[in-house]
Amino acid sequence: MKSLSTFTTSFVFLAFLALPLPPLTTPVNARLFPNVSAIPPSLAANIRSAGWDAFRGFAGCHPGEARPGLSKLKQYFHYFGYMQSSSSLGNFTDDYDDSLADAIRTYQKNFNLNVTGDLDSATLSHLVMPRCGNPDIVNGTTSMNSGKASAPVGSRLHAVGHYSFFPGTPRWPSGQLDLTYAFLPGNNLDAKTRQVFARAFQRWSEVTPLTFNETSNYRRANIRIGFYTGDHGDGEPFDGVMGTLAHAFSPPNGLFHLDGAENWVVGGDVTTASSDSDAIDLESVAVHEIGHLLGLGHSSVEESIMYPTISSRTRKVQLTSDDVSGIQVLYGSNPNSNASEATTSTQDRETSGSSTRVGNDLVGAILAVGFLSAFL
Ligand SMILES: [Zn+2]
Ligand SMILES: [Zn+2]
Repeated sequence: MKSLSTFTTSFVFLAFLALPLPPLTTPVNARLFPNVSAIPPSLAANIRSAGWDAFRGFAGCHPGEARPGLSKLKQYFHYFGYMQSSSSLGNFTDDYDDSLADAIRTYQKNFNLNVTGDLDSATLSHLVMPRCGNPDIVNGTTSMNSGKASAPVGSRLHAVGHYSFFPGTPRWPSGQLDLTYAFLPGNNLDAKTRQVFARAFQRWSEVTPLTFNETSNYRRANIRIGFYTGDHGDGEPFDGVMGTLAHAFSPPNGLFHLDGAENWVVGGDVTTASSDSDAIDLESVAVHEIGHLLGLGHSSVEESIMYPTISSRTRKVQLTSDDVSGIQVLYGSNPNSNASEATTSTQDRETSGSSTRVGNDLVGAILAVGFLSAFL
């Protein structure tokens, strides 16, 4: 028996050695629901206190005032690129000073709000919406609402583009237009969920020369997709329900992370979800984040895919002319199809809710990186 025991121990030890090294963080079983009716009612509770909802308490706050918690609002603006920090720790005071007013003004401009520098109700309602974790401003330069000409001078076709790029305008190289993607093995996504991502990729391949194919080789894939919660090793921790929903890195990094704490809806009509629900349409978020993976930054065009926020219970998956113009600056059009077929007018867009239902008690759902727990 002794020799057998020794053999067994040795075998187990060797078997352990043969396993691949564990990832830096443990993959999660994300909250993926086949449709909205599969979301347990218990998960709809407490969403009014989720995300950045505490910022609503700053209503009536004015320049020159000191209000407990304003430092957290400054951290929010710092996180998304609207404020510089004098220290790497991002320490801010609770003073409503000029730098905060400047950040508010830039934010208001980017989101097409009245540019006042005040924390008015419209601004606060927008600030608390869930959003993409990618910043709107990188290196202190905003191009999100710069009004670039997207058509030749004199053309009457959509005269202004609001799409943007990452600093340095990175893109996948011209010799690498057939990209592979893979899912973090530990997430164990089913076929239906993987098809959601395939459809999201297809929306971009229809208007560019790019192609996307799934591979089982996660380590070698160009694009690596994973659900994580909290701190997952890239300095961009997720923040739990709402707040930031996902983030993605610029080319040729290829990392695409989603917050596993959200209530992701894989199929069915997400717009029929209960008003108490924080149901988030997975495909809508995927189409947005793939735009980042290909090199697009945020756009101030509210109807565009690359707008930073998306309300919960909203489906928004079709590229607009602003998205198509931006991606075709990087890659050109699809030589095998008529790009105009993939571009829909504002009236045709498959979107609902975000522009008509935004109100004080509408919890928006956006894609982004989380840092909430450090804030609130
Ligand atoms: Zn984004
Ligand atoms: Zn990440």
